[in-house]
Amino acid sequence: MSTTKNTDVFIIGAGLSGLSAAYNLSKAGKSVLVLEARDRIGGRAWTDSSFGLPVELGCMAIHGYKEGNPVLGYAKAFGLETKLLPASPGTLASADGPLEPALSAKLRVNLNAARANMNKIISHSSASDTSSAADILLAPSSPLYTGLSDSEKPKATALARSLEIGWGIFLEDTAAHWSAWASGVAFAGSDGVIIGGYVKLADSLRSSAEQTGNASFMLHSRVSKIIQTDDGIKGVQIQTSDGQTYFGRAALSTIPLGVLKTLPKDFFTPPLPARKTSAISRTAVGVLEKLGLLYDSLWWDPPAGPFSVLHESGVILVIPISSSPPCLHILVPHGLAGKPATEIHDIVARAITTGSPNPVPQPIKIISSRWKDDELSYGATSSPITVGEGRSPLDFAELARPLWGGLLGFSGEATELDHRGSVPGAILSGEREARRIGALLDAV
Ligand SMILES: Cc1cc2nc3c(=O)[nH]c(=O)nc-3n(C[C@H](O)[C@H](O)[C@H](O)COP(=O)(O)OP(=O)(O)OC[C@H]3O[C@@H](n4cnc5c(N)ncnc54)[C@H](O)[C@@H]3O)c2cc1C
Repeated sequence: MSTTKNTDVFIIGAGLSGLSAAYNLSKAGKSVLVLEARDRIGGRAWTDSSFGLPVELGCMAIHGYKEGNPVLGYAKAFGLETKLLPASPGTLASADGPLEPALSAKLRVNLNAARANMNKIISHSSASDTSSAADILLAPSSPLYTGLSDSEKPKATALARSLEIGWGIFLEDTAAHWSAWASGVAFAGSDGVIIGGYVKLADSLRSSAEQTGNASFMLHSRVSKIIQTDDGIKGVQIQTSDGQTYFGRAALSTIPLGVLKTLPKDFFTPPLPARKTSAISRTAVGVLEKLGLLYDSLWWDPPAGPFSVLHESGVILVIPISSSPPCLHILVPHGLAGKPATEIHDIVARAITTGSPNPVPQPIKIISSRWKDDELSYGATSSPITVGEGRSPLDFAELARPLWGGLLGFSGEATELDHRGSVPGAILSGEREARRIGALLDAV
């Protein structure tokens, strides 16, 4: 057993939330020890470079590039290169091949009208309304189907499921009343990327924190218990699954919501109050998986991308990220998560190339995420509010509430009321807790 008694703050998890907290606390002069169970930092920011080019298996986009996303501020401070992505709508395709441009345009216009119609309806609904997004968007009278033939309507339904990519759950499970709740404040609109991937941001946050001389990082360090202590002075004890014990003043848990759902009751001692445990069990975690497929020859038309492949189980978003070497970056929605990569390749190949005389090559290399079954995430991100009694965005505020007189904090994407499920949510929650814990420690 080893003990360390002079740490101000233990941070559990080195995802973007833990990294942002470590960076801000260490800059403010607090000693920080970050304990991370994986063999890498970044968490759900995971840039794979085994193809010789960066492929994001977790987050990729800076959503709201021109609308104030805080990632840009950090990127600028660390000298990271970023770029705005072209705002091309790309190609809609179904199992029968690419759709006619006129039909694609009509489907998109109808989806926008159906969303506007849903927003109008829910602006008059009460919080006890149990309608799902599907009840309104997919209703026979929905503007989604205006002017479409019976054979075109299923394509409109399939396109509406593109909303499920970001939500990670079915339209049928999403509470209509809260579906647009965060849209006024969430960073949206234009999309950009960090050149070289989000790994660059994670590495910069870590090295800048280390350079203060106040922060250390331990990988392969899975926290198994967080205990409140009081030997005259209140503090925390941390135990790891390899038998280490640490003592310090405060702790910040950035443990993902999906994992919090599975922890034994005595992981936190004293145990979490019922108000927090019920918010943890009520709040859903959505699923989105990523694939990287590398080919030895180019078989798609690069200017036609990105491709949205309409499938009855959800929309597969196919982003060509390189023509040389030919590489596709694929977002697999929850309805198709777990399908073998070769099956997804077959669906995509049939949809994009119907009518082409050339056979489509098989991928020569495949990389894939498994967020759904990963025991350190158990899902992609927290989802929007699901249909059910008593559910509201206040659950995200409850997930963020500190305990133990403020010495046990909670951050991570699921704790940011306005930015759940995103990199800004992770980063802003880390900043929030760094400010709060720093001020608390200064005051005692
Ligand atoms: C496929 C996918 C695509 C996405 N796309 C985007 C996008 O384009 N844009 C965007 O803004 N957001 C996107 N997101 C969301 C974004 O990635 C997350 O919101 C953000 O990375 C979460 O950061 P976090 O620090 O809250 O959690 P995490 O990154 O999960 O960090 C938590 C850390 O805690 C560690 N941990 C867990 N339990 C323990 C324990 N007991 N002891 C020690 N360590 C532990 C984990 O290993 C992990 O490293 C995407 C997410 C996914 C999965």
